[in-house]
Amino acid sequence: MKALVEHLATGGKLNTGELGELLQAATTDGALLQLLRNTAVRTARQQFGFGVYIRGLIELSSYCRRDCLYCGLRRSNRTAERYRLTADEVMECCKEGYALGFRTFVLQGGEDGTHTDKWLETLISRMRSQYPDVAITLSLGERSEESYRRLYEAGANRYLLRHEAADSTLYASLHPDSPSIEHRLRCIEALKRCGYQVGMGMMIGVKGQTINHIAQDLQLIAQYECEMVGIGPFLPHQATPLGGEPAGELNTTLAAVAIARIMLPHALIPSTTALATLTPTGRCEGILSGANVVMPNLSPQDVRAKYAIYENKASWGKEAAEGLAALEQELATIGYHIDYSRGDHKMYNTKE
Ligand code: SAM
Ligand code: SF4
Repeated sequence: MKALVEHLATGGKLNTGELGELLQAATTDGALLQLLRNTAVRTARQQFGFGVYIRGLIELSSYCRRDCLYCGLRRSNRTAERYRLTADEVMECCKEGYALGFRTFVLQGGEDGTHTDKWLETLISRMRSQYPDVAITLSLGERSEESYRRLYEAGANRYLLRHEAADSTLYASLHPDSPSIEHRLRCIEALKRCGYQVGMGMMIGVKGQTINHIAQDLQLIAQYECEMVGIGPFLPHQATPLGGEPAGELNTTLAAVAIARIMLPHALIPSTTALATLTPTGRCEGILSGANVVMPNLSPQDVRAKYAIYENKASWGKEAAEGLAALEQELATIGYHIDYSRGDHKMYNTKE
């Protein structure tokens, strides 16, 4: 197994079977997991030093037309509290975030039918003209290529669209009413054509997922050479069909993050909120597995609890924009610090 790590670390490729074996072994062999994580951390440090980029997360809407089995915002969840921010509220979040030092704003939300291209274009143009030096990231699900293009032209730079599951059967079982993994990948390809820095990724430990599925996911991420990779544990939400399922495992998540880092040395990889929710040390464990980004919550405080994709989601303290000092202190305990620059992917030509 050590030879496989070495091979990956020197730019070699592994087939999906080998990736699966490595993942499987790393979940049971502590020394191997540590070797993987150390290798990933070394790779990340060569690219980013000890800096961790921050992204201000603005949760635009908790309305969603989709019914993903795992998510608390799914449309069949009648108990979900729904809200949508006004454009003025978003601009208020940006004002606060900019003053705190954020140079990336992430607009994330359910697939809310009221978010027309026109409405989003107007909002993004306002953000772009008021904050010309920030990166604007979108995470608003599946839209048409025409829509992605209009939003890019309005000033958005990055788009997070996790592929969720490379295996078509697993994908279909988790997304009974969504088109297909093929359609998801067509969206990802459209985003790339438009010029976005694109993020892919998946949850670890969701019902029906095997180690081999995760290996397929990692292979797909490497094949698409995406600029961002989001990998976090599945966390149950009681009001969903997967509410009684166990959360994803920490070690498997850390091993997957580490492998993603080694395969894509330049990628922007968050230590996810889900990881920080799974365990109090999760944020640092993610960074010590090769992650180099954190995404503190910049949403208005009165809506944070309503954006409940899973229960007990961390959105306060070190996971909150106003908690940057606490985050800085925590990062310092492992020798890291916040890097306040905008943090684009190295290969990306920024457009202003
Ligand atoms: N609606 C957009 C989408 O699905 O791409 C963006 C918002 S969605 C809430 C963002 C991500 O949350 C999804 O890509 C999914 O992987 C993750 N997520 C949803 N439910 C989750 C759960 N129960 N545990 C962990 N992650 C979850
Ligand atoms: Fe909607 Fe995204 Fe949740 Fe699916 S994961 S139900 S698309 S918010």
